[in-house]
Amino acid sequence: MGKVTGFLEIDRVERSYRNADERVKHFKEFVLPLREDQTRDQAARCMDCGIPYCHDGCPVNNQIPDWNDLVYHGDWRRASANLHSTNNFPEVTGRVCPAPCEASCTLNLDDQPVTIKTIECAIVDRAFDEGWITPQPAASSSGKAVAIVGAGPAGLAAAQQLARAGHDVHVYEKNAAVGGLMRYGIPDFKLEKHLIERRAGQLSAEGVTFHCGVHVGEDVAIDDLAKGHDALLLTGGSEHPRDLPVPGRDLLGVHFAMDFLPQQNRRVSGEALGKGTDEIAKDRHVVVIGGGDTGSDCIGTSIRQGAKSVTQIEIMEAPPEHENKELTWPHWPMKMRTSSSQQEGAVRDFAVMTKKFIGENGRVSKLQCVRVDDKFKEIAGSEFDIPADLVLLAMGFTNPVHDGMLNDLGLAYDPRGNVLADEQSYLTSQKRVFVAGDMRRGQSLIVWAIREGRQAAHAIDKALMGMTNLPR
Ligand SMILES: Cc1cc2nc3c(=O)[nH]c(=O)nc-3n(C[C@H](O)[C@H](O)[C@H](O)COP(=O)(O)OP(=O)(O)OC[C@H]3O[C@@H](n4cnc5c(N)ncnc54)[C@H](O)[C@@H]3O)c2cc1C
Ligand code: SF4
Repeated sequence: MGKVTGFLEIDRVERSYRNADERVKHFKEFVLPLREDQTRDQAARCMDCGIPYCHDGCPVNNQIPDWNDLVYHGDWRRASANLHSTNNFPEVTGRVCPAPCEASCTLNLDDQPVTIKTIECAIVDRAFDEGWITPQPAASSSGKAVAIVGAGPAGLAAAQQLARAGHDVHVYEKNAAVGGLMRYGIPDFKLEKHLIERRAGQLSAEGVTFHCGVHVGEDVAIDDLAKGHDALLLTGGSEHPRDLPVPGRDLLGVHFAMDFLPQQNRRVSGEALGKGTDEIAKDRHVVVIGGGDTGSDCIGTSIRQGAKSVTQIEIMEAPPEHENKELTWPHWPMKMRTSSSQQEGAVRDFAVMTKKFIGENGRVSKLQCVRVDDKFKEIAGSEFDIPADLVLLAMGFTNPVHDGMLNDLGLAYDPRGNVLADEQSYLTSQKRVFVAGDMRRGQSLIVWAIREGRQAAHAIDKALMGMTNLPR
């Protein structure tokens, strides 16, 4: 514990943002890091409370009090080593993780939690700046080859772990570049893509071979891939979007969020637009349906593209402004949260159901909506219209795509349609075929995908070698 009285003396200070008027003119990140002395003060707020609930709140079980102490004492290099012992990509989670660890922080019970995510990001950014993060190739080869399908956080974390254990790792990715939703879903203003390229460079130097632009199940048969490798790991994500099959759904201007967001990321990186829409929000009245991360990303992207207005509607009731910590701690509470994109000028409305899309000349012009109660029952007489000439459906993802690779393998699914496997073996219903990330657990978070990739690597190494030294 750095400073015994730190939590009594020092208030929580968070990273600030460039102001909205300025940041919406571009797609660059806008979070301003704390100075070194401020980060050290924030680390000093950690109480080293004895039972660190933050360990458990963090899905990769980051050893938070340990690196807070190291930062307080100025030993940033050991802090980085400690952080990387549990998390392959802290530069990503330090930027876009919702930080369930902070909800679990003991100081959160009757004060503000330690700024864990900010400190995590400062450690890894500094470690890269100082040149402390270098490739760690395996000392010897195992003679085993593993194919991983899908280069999102689950696939990349598993690839790094398996390569460090000496396996010959090949990652197959249908997109032109690696990163999964970190690259094609999350906009650059939340996560610049050079960060992913830098990590991918480290993985390549550790012996991972990337095969981009290869859609497994279309360009190459999964059986052929299986023949050339000792194990297969499927980390293809949960890509089947939840639809809104109401009248007018087929009008022009109604798109899934993931037909819209990747296109802007491709424009920023200079990549050719892939499947999806080439429409942008400029001069449009945009309505975003769905209130999660994807919805927020649609808002921030639309505003940067020059939308006339952006309205976000959500079928759930507005959550309470504040949680009752005595009831919710150390769990993630339901409460009103306002994302940086929502702060940039979106109108939000809750308990709203869309009845139909209405169009003019084949293009959507408004939404017909109705208010609903907490059981989604329509409230009589509450119908209203919202003008809209671009509608983005951001209501989440139901399950992985079954057609192609998964059905070709004849895999068993769980009741939600995810690939069936437990959290110990990560083994599917087929021998030598493993699964991790959103493809197994359903749509989730990057930090959960990293955890699953690491744990699946542990399971695969053990299955191939009879024992493993990889952490779970
Ligand atoms: C718009 C959006 C914003 C989000 N924002 C956040 C956030 O801020 N913070 C957060 O923690 N989480 C966020 N999430 C969730 C998070 O991105 C996912 O939970 C996480 O990326 C899942 O990782 P994954 O590796 O399992 O799958 P993915 O990231 O989906 O990666 C799967 C990869 O597999 C590839 N693939 C699929 N099938 C094949 C095939 N047959 N052949 C070859 N390649 C294939 C895909 O192209 C993709 O690259 C967001 C999600 C979305 C959609
Ligand atoms: S990965 Fe997420 S939950 Fe874990 S310490 Fe970082 S911000 Fe917290």
